[in-house]
Amino acid sequence: MQRPDPARPRFRRLPHWLSGAALALAVAAVAILGGSSLFVRHYTDRLAQSGEGTLRLAVAAIGGELGRFERLPPLIADRSLIRQALADPTPARLAETNAYLAAVNGPLGTTDIYLMRPDGLTIAASNHASPNPFTGQNFAFRPYFTEAMQGRTGRFFGLGTTSLRRGYYFASPVHDGGRITGAVAIKVDVEGLERAWDGADYEVTVTDPEGIVFLSSRGDWLFGAFGPLTAETLRAGRETRRYANAVLHALPVTQGQDRDGHALMTTTDGRATHRYLVLSAPMAELGWTVRVLLDLAPVRAQAASATLILMLISCLFALFVAVMLERRRRLGDRIRLQAEAQAALEGKVAERTSELAAVNAALGAEVAERRAAEEKLRLAQRRLVQSGKLAALGQMSATLSHELSQPIGAVRNFAENAGTYIDRGRIPEARENVGRIVALADRMTEIGRSLRSFARQPGEKLVATDAAEAVREALAVLRWRLDRAGIAVSEATGTGPAPVMAGPVRLQQVLVNLLSNAADSLEAAATPAPALAITLERGAGRVLIRVADNGPGVEPAMEERIFDPFFTTKGKGLGLGLSISYNIVRDFGGELRLLTRRAGACFEIELAAAPADGAVPAGEDGTREGAPEREDANGGAQDPARR
Ligand code: ADP
Repeated sequence: MQRPDPARPRFRRLPHWLSGAALALAVAAVAILGGSSLFVRHYTDRLAQSGEGTLRLAVAAIGGELGRFERLPPLIADRSLIRQALADPTPARLAETNAYLAAVNGPLGTTDIYLMRPDGLTIAASNHASPNPFTGQNFAFRPYFTEAMQGRTGRFFGLGTTSLRRGYYFASPVHDGGRITGAVAIKVDVEGLERAWDGADYEVTVTDPEGIVFLSSRGDWLFGAFGPLTAETLRAGRETRRYANAVLHALPVTQGQDRDGHALMTTTDGRATHRYLVLSAPMAELGWTVRVLLDLAPVRAQAASATLILMLISCLFALFVAVMLERRRRLGDRIRLQAEAQAALEGKVAERTSELAAVNAALGAEVAERRAAEEKLRLAQRRLVQSGKLAALGQMSATLSHELSQPIGAVRNFAENAGTYIDRGRIPEARENVGRIVALADRMTEIGRSLRSFARQPGEKLVATDAAEAVREALAVLRWRLDRAGIAVSEATGTGPAPVMAGPVRLQQVLVNLLSNAADSLEAAATPAPALAITLERGAGRVLIRVADNGPGVEPAMEERIFDPFFTTKGKGLGLGLSISYNIVRDFGGELRLLTRRAGACFEIELAAAPADGAVPAGEDGTREGAPEREDANGGAQDPARR
């Protein structure tokens, strides 16, 4: 995971709005500097294009106007009246010629028409009746007269010496009999041309070959020169008296060129300065130059407006770019923050995951350990069960031989006695003994069956069993042995049955075991005057059976262990008798305990009393158990005698 390095200082970048503003300023500056000159050039070009048209129109107008008049002098000169007036200038003829010229002057639109002799003297004129008629005046100094007299069409522009009005002069020779006898001249007023230029948003000037302005939309430029006035120019003017007495002067202008080769002109008229784009065209046959001057102020205004618009658009664009950059930056910041948050989250998840993995691994190890321990335990259990089974098998064998040896001994005695009785012819006693033998055989069968049930069978049905009878039967089983050992037995079972909830055979087995142990103890210790006492005590809902002896008793250190399986102090014992007896009594819902005594041992069986219905029910042992008990008691009395 990538974390921000706290040691590294974080420099704040320039804010985007500031960058945007700087960009806008830069773009605006570029727009002003570059755009302005570009726009100026563009609009100048457009002005030049429109000016070209204007110039062509002006040239065409001037050419058309003058061309129209150029053809008139030859036509007039060709008339016979004109020739005759020159050949024979009688007053009548001159009068007629004057009248003719005056008559055609108006309709032709000319200012004056007049006829000159070869020496230049005017002999007839359309204005012969005016206060300052041309007649009698000599115009030999005018170039148009000279040219006409040389046989060419004379042309001239100038200020009328009489009228002091500007005009254009055409002259043609008068041919008569192969000779040039004179010249016809017309004067055309040019002020009409200027009037056509009034009100236009451009200026038009026409200059003569010497560069003098003689036609202009601006009156103050008339007779001015765009270039310097040379001595040559002034002399030529004086000779032809072209401009009569008008004062020629240099105009206050400066001429130049722009980068695209456009001719420029700056004029200063004292109050203001004007800059013009100058377009010019020559009129070759006249020697004139027509100029159209277009004011550049609108161009500058247009360029300024366009520059302003470009600047605004640039600023808007820069603003847009700045906004977009800002948005991008914010988006980038957001994405970065999200990535950091995600990385942090992933880090935490990884941390937790590794912790969990460690815990998991520990748990896994623990589980494995537990499993191994369980496996060991199971193995140990299996071994224990195996050894337990083997021990139980041994115990079972020992118990079986132990339990059967006593009745077998009794059977042997009864059989020997029966033989003796038969020998002596005492058949009834012999029969009685045989009956006891049968009963003992039955008992042994029963013992064998019960041995199978030595293993605990908690589910076995309990029945009301007479405890007093069980005591008597147990004593009957052991009678011969007790008698042989010389053990005095006292039995205090009270009167009447003592019904308890038990299994009759197993209760008897418990009693037989307790009595056998007592006998074992008395015999082993060779107790003098060995004695056994069996008591039966009926309590509230319970019955207590005690088996006591006057033997050595149980050492206090062993008291707690005698009920443990396999605990024995006897060399031949298995240590299972008390353990099995304890569990049998527990199965009856009773208790088997060792009572503390000063001398000897006393075991107490506590059993729940069966419901006192007065009858001893037929238990699992059946009624046959009653006969051996009684006979055992009798037979037992005979055993000591046999031994
Ligand atoms: P076993 O008779 O095979 O030894 P038991 O479980 O019947 O096994 O008896 C366990 C032990 O209890 C005996 O070895 C003995 O030491 C002791 N014990 C039992 N009954 C008496 C008794 N009446 N007097 C003294 N000790 C006894």
